[in-house]
Amino acid sequence: DELRGEVAVNLQPRQVPGYCYSRVEPTPVRAPRLLAWSDDLARLLGLTRPPEQGPEAEVLAGNLVTPSMKPFAARYGGHQFGNWAGQLGDGRAISLGEVSAADGQSWEIQLKGAGPTPYSRRADGRAVLRSSLREFLCSEAMHYLGVPTTRALSLVSTGDTVVRDMFYNGNPQPEPGAVVARVAPTFIRFGNFQMMTAAGEIDNLRDLADYVIRHHYPELGAPSPAVYVQWFTEVCRRTAVMIAHWMAVGFVHGVMNTDNMSILGLTIDYGPYGWLEPYDPGWTPNTTDFGQHRYAFGQQPRVAIWNLMQLGRALAPLVTEVTELNQGLEQYAATLNATQADMMRRKLGLSAREGQDDAALLEALHPALAAAEVDMTQFFRTLSHTAPALLASGGEPEAAFQELVTKTTYAPSAADAHKPLLGWLPQYLERLRLEPRSPEDIREGMLAANPKYVLRNYLAQTAIQAAEAGDLSYLHRLMEVLKTPYAEQPEHEELAAMRPDWAWNMPGCATLSCSS
Ligand code: AMP
Ligand code: MG
Ligand code: MG
Repeated sequence: DELRGEVAVNLQPRQVPGYCYSRVEPTPVRAPRLLAWSDDLARLLGLTRPPEQGPEAEVLAGNLVTPSMKPFAARYGGHQFGNWAGQLGDGRAISLGEVSAADGQSWEIQLKGAGPTPYSRRADGRAVLRSSLREFLCSEAMHYLGVPTTRALSLVSTGDTVVRDMFYNGNPQPEPGAVVARVAPTFIRFGNFQMMTAAGEIDNLRDLADYVIRHHYPELGAPSPAVYVQWFTEVCRRTAVMIAHWMAVGFVHGVMNTDNMSILGLTIDYGPYGWLEPYDPGWTPNTTDFGQHRYAFGQQPRVAIWNLMQLGRALAPLVTEVTELNQGLEQYAATLNATQADMMRRKLGLSAREGQDDAALLEALHPALAAAEVDMTQFFRTLSHTAPALLASGGEPEAAFQELVTKTTYAPSAADAHKPLLGWLPQYLERLRLEPRSPEDIREGMLAANPKYVLRNYLAQTAIQAAEAGDLSYLHRLMEVLKTPYAEQPEHEELAAMRPDWAWNMPGCATLSCSS
């Protein structure tokens, strides 16, 4: 009620000047069926798993709106691939409202794929099962990895088909539709603020900023020009922490447009994302970005600050001197550097030592990993066993390191390409010997920083194909395994496997398009 919303009497795609959101009801689907449910998140929200079909599944599909819900779609804009795109908005996501959790925190519940809104532009407001399953699985997997993220409560199939040109070959195919109920304290993005400033709606801009500060940054106190600067600085800090997490686990978002950047520093909007398999800073999973590689793994820190600059521009009308916002960008750089270095040290079992400068050692690792084409996840996980074992036993490092590289590389016969990494590893081992902790403690610490199980695209795609054929067992197994990604889980060893040969050129298994 603190923000200006319109009551949308029609769902025609249109500009919505003057408002922060539109009140709009989800459009019913034919036959909702609950496919997946996040028990942990549900417990937090005080909900219990509903039956596969019935009134709860109807609510989760948007067929049933209870009297306490106030569904709405938000108005936002954004820079897409570096270009200002004007009004975008929730074109297929409809928020039902908020629930209070046991811990006092409020959570917004949003149905993605719930039908057209005034922001649907040329599209249908729906989502296909494959993209919904990917968003559901990855939101939860990221949470269990410890990465700041929006959550997902449920995945419901709609019983309707949705037509998408998945291969961009002019041959659209009907696919099963689905709705994800996603959950976050708020889904407000950088683009909400950009929209208001671009439209010259400074009152709405201020209302929106005050709303976010009051509800989501209450520790900053009553909004004022100085508080807006502190708030922006805190958004910059949180964004840096999020990016450091992505870089530490090898996550590539794939579409870091400013409308996909959460004002809370959460990973938001899981589309053509991916996980680094061969270590390659230039890699992007998003085929739509193959020309530019704008959102490639190694670009993410730079893109985030570019996006923060756009947010800063949008907030400029609220502050006394626009240059004050530079303190936020400086906070971003400082936090990113410190957090990334910290996380890399944890991955390598190194503590920050007085008088010990590890910067050169840490820096040299990245090009060596890239040259050797090792699988990022498998390399660090295997190293977590190999290196402490060498400390403990004093075994033969050369053979152990050769085995590590041979086991985790995608290019086993490229001996020359392995040389930089095989040269780096003994230097690292010498440094590791300076650690005062026991090899066992070092191993424990490394295993807690290097996940064994990440949602590789070929695993998600395998779950999708099974689900499309009516078999949900693989999806449910993945959900369970990804709940404890840092645990060994020997009975699920094959879900940690490097990308298999068959997956390299199979759509969805390595790379994929935005079509969802
Ligand atoms: P994304 O690339 O997923 O961040 O989406 C960018 C914009 O396109 C947002 O405004 C979305 O709401 C909108 N959009 C994406 N897919 C659809 C769809 N199927 N129907 C309506 N709007 C969509
Ligand atoms: Mg989006
Ligand atoms: Mg999307």
